[in-house]
This record gives sequence, structure tokens and C-alpha cells, in this order.
Amino acid sequence: VSATELTKESFKQIKNTEDDVQAFLTLNEEAALKQAAALDQSGIQDDQILAGIPFATKDMISTKGLRTTAASKILKDFKPIYNATVIENLNHAGSINVGKTNLDEFAMGSSTENSGFKPTKNPWDLTRVPGGSSGGSAAAVAAGDVLAALGTDTGGSIRQPASFNGIVGMKPTYGRVSRWGVIAFASSFDQVGWLTKNVKDNALLMEAISGVDHHDMTSANRPVPHWAANLDQASVKGLKIAVPEEYVSDAIDEDVREVVQAALKHYESLGATIDTVSLPHTKYGVSAYYILASSEASSNLQRYDGIRYGFRADDFKNLEDVYVRTRTEGFGEEVKRRIMLGTFSLSAGFYDAYFNKAAKVRRLIADDFNKVFEDYDVIMGATDASTAFPFGDKITDPTKMYMNDVLTIPVNMAGLPAMSLPAGFSKKDGMPVGLQIIGKPFDEQTIYDAAYAFE
Ligand code: GLN
Repeated sequence: VSATELTKESFKQIKNTEDDVQAFLTLNEEAALKQAAALDQSGIQDDQILAGIPFATKDMISTKGLRTTAASKILKDFKPIYNATVIENLNHAGSINVGKTNLDEFAMGSSTENSGFKPTKNPWDLTRVPGGSSGGSAAAVAAGDVLAALGTDTGGSIRQPASFNGIVGMKPTYGRVSRWGVIAFASSFDQVGWLTKNVKDNALLMEAISGVDHHDMTSANRPVPHWAANLDQASVKGLKIAVPEEYVSDAIDEDVREVVQAALKHYESLGATIDTVSLPHTKYGVSAYYILASSEASSNLQRYDGIRYGFRADDFKNLEDVYVRTRTEGFGEEVKRRIMLGTFSLSAGFYDAYFNKAAKVRRLIADDFNKVFEDYDVIMGATDASTAFPFGDKITDPTKMYMNDVLTIPVNMAGLPAMSLPAGFSKKDGMPVGLQIIGKPFDEQTIYDAAYAFE
């Protein structure tokens, strides 16, 4: 098939599903079709390994000349003047960006209900959330609009929506993928990754966006393996799997636990060994994360002041008033909550009690993982304690929403790579359930291999 046919097919499916699902904030139809036509005319170059493949991009990632909003009113008409490095890499590989997907404003949330524009629906059941914050990307893949969509994961925002939508979501090791041009939420946690239909696509696409970037000093100067070409199902034989008791505990819904336990049994039947371990500081992860991530966010979000970017309030009296009105009108409730929490935690007099203490907890959590990885190849457990929940269930109670990420946040605290893999369906509500697979730093291959063997 031609690039034009593929791209047209993608827009056709978007038009079929979008009224219901609402996954996109901006479509890139004209430019995408132009790019496809050019590709069809020039023929495929050797290094265009993704030639003509349509993908979608979370609206947290800058795209030159194409509206980029972070789902915030404060950026509602913002058009970046450059591409994020990941977008440059994908252009280079010949793939085609069909549009920008919805999210929780500035990636703060777990349901996409915090979007400044609209909620996205879960294609499996339109009365339920798609998860978040990469809910638009997950829903676009689940609805069959695209085979792959970019997401970002600061505390679970790729893995949890992947779990809720029955697709593969991979957050690589911190530093594996450049963050240049990715709107900053909590810079020491943020990582870009892919939501895809299957494992092999994910591995192939990840290779295309990974690698050192001199624009991002935290990007890792390490060779990028050919994950997809190296996929090895047989390596599950003898694989040492650790299952933390915290990841299969009573706090996890029974229907989710059932699916996860069955998946673990399947690994055993494939020749893996399974032992129960403990990550004892798991329960402190959420509290420490909300101090640290909000502190970083309060600093990163200072730049939205009505002068430099996007939206500016009308009717201001003086400079200070521009700042105050712009931020009051431009930011949503959850973003304001984080800015206040972060500013408070960093303020003189509270810094030691909050920020410093949370930073120490972060170290303890990383040490928990290091210790388990001395004896095991991968860690497995649930991605999330529940399946996709109904709209309105958690949005009125922020701590309830925060607790949703108890099993994904520790991974970001330690900077580890982790995937959510479709493991089956809940007997209670028929919704998809994800198995989380966590790997050693820069050992994405073992995760991909294990996932490929299951699939
Ligand atoms: N739900 C978490 C938060 O609201 C994580 C979000 C994310 O990974 N971007 O911060």
C-alpha cells in the first residue's frame, strides 16, 4: 500500500470514531497527506524505516507550526517554532503525524478528566475514563485510529492508560529518550514512550526515538539496541521473575488480581521461575511523589506568565496583574493545586520537612528495586489496582485520584523501564487488565522479550 492510502485510512477511522471517543485535540490532515504524497512520489530512502506509518502525538510534545496545548487554556493557541527531538527523529524515519491527542492538563491526572478542553472516552465502554494522563493517545490506539501514539510518563501516564485500554504501553529508562521539546512537568521523572497495539511495533518504534541528544543533558549516551530485531521469546525459559507482594495485595481489586495471577502462571508454564519479594517502601511512593513532582512542576510552570507564551488575559492594570489574571484564568484547578503544593514544599522553613524528606524516600524506593534486581531479571505485578473507572468516580477527590498510581509511581522514582502488557479481561466488568513488567535500568530488551513471549 502507499503512504497516502495508509494515511487516508487513518483519517477515515478517526472520523468514524472521533464523535464518540474524542481522542484528538488537533488534526494534522492537510500536512500529513502532503507528507504522504511526497513520500509516495520520491520513493522510500534506506533510512526511512517507518516510511508512511501514521502515528499520533500526545499534545505535550512540541510540533513545529502545529498547535501544541498540553490540554491547557494557557497554551490554547500556541504554535511551537520547532519540533521536539522525538518528532524530528520520526520525521527522519518517514512516519506521519496525524494529530495531537488529548491529556490531563500538563499531564497532571489519571483519567483525562483534567483536560482544559474535553474528556476523552474509553473506546471499550464510553461511560468509563481512558485513564491518564496519556488518555487520548491510548484511546486513539484502542479505537484503531493509529497503530501507535506517543505518550509521556511521569508517574504512570503511559502504563495506566495502556492498562485501561487493553494495549501495550512502554516507558523506557529515564534518559533513554530525549525530552527536548517535550513540555516539562517534573523533569527528573518525565519520559516519552509509545502506546501500541503490539509488542513488536513498540520495540521498533522505540528504537527510532531513543538515543543521546545534545539538546537534553539528561539523555543517556548509550548505544540503542535493535530491540525488535533481537526479540527472543525463548529467553523466558529460566527467566527469574520477582513478584512484589505489594503489587498483588488485597488493595488490588480481586478481578484484576485474578488476571495477573493467571498471567504469572502462564509465565511459569513457559519455564520462568516466580518468587514473591517485597518492595517495602511502596506505600510511601505516592506521598513523596506529590511533593517532588509538584515542586518541579511549580518551577517549570513559572514560564507561563502571559508574556512569553500563548494566552494573555485582557483588562489588566499593570504587569503584576497580567501575571495574576493570566494564570488565574489560564490554569485549571488541578494545575493550581500542584503549583501551590510545590511552592509550599520548596519554601524556606518547610523545605527540610517536605522536599528533603521526600527526596530521601525516593532513594529508599530506588534501593528497594536495586536489592530485588540483585537476584532477579524482571519484576511483575499489576499495573493498576482497578480497571478503567466510570467518569466522575474519582475527580471530586484528589487523593483518591492520586492513590490510583500507587503501583506505577515508584518506577518513575527509580527511573526504571516498565511496560503495561494486556493480560486479559476482568470477570467483573469485562474491561482490559494490564500486567506490569519492570526491568533493570537500560534493560528494555528483557521486558520486550518477556512481553513478546506472553503475547
Ligand atoms: N497521575 C500522575 C499525576 O497526576 C502521573 C501523571 C503522569 O505520569 N504524567 O501526576
